[in-house]
Amino acid sequence: MSETQRQARLAWNKGLTGKGRLPAAATPFEVCAADGCGTPVVGALPPAAGLVQVRGAADGAAAHWYCPGRCTVLARTRAEIRAIPRRPGGDR
Ligand SMILES: [Zn+2]
Repeated sequence: MSETQRQARLAWNKGLTGKGRLPAAATPFEVCAADGCGTPVVGALPPAAGLVQVRGAADGAAAHWYCPGRCTVLARTRAEIRAIPRRPGGDR
């Protein structure tokens, strides 16, 4: 890791960056314990029954399986937030 990267990480960790708030996509939420929830979509079948497939934000982004309800809503919301074009410096 270069000195620049170290400084950047330090600044990030202390929340002293001038880039505005963290993107909502970085908001941590409880890890779901449901079987197969949050796993990438590989084939046509879900890894466990009842899971919902959620598309990634951008074209070509990986889709994931989520359990119905909270996880699906969260994943869709995250994808929508990521799909919003971010204007440089237009955060505030
Ligand atoms: Zn879940």
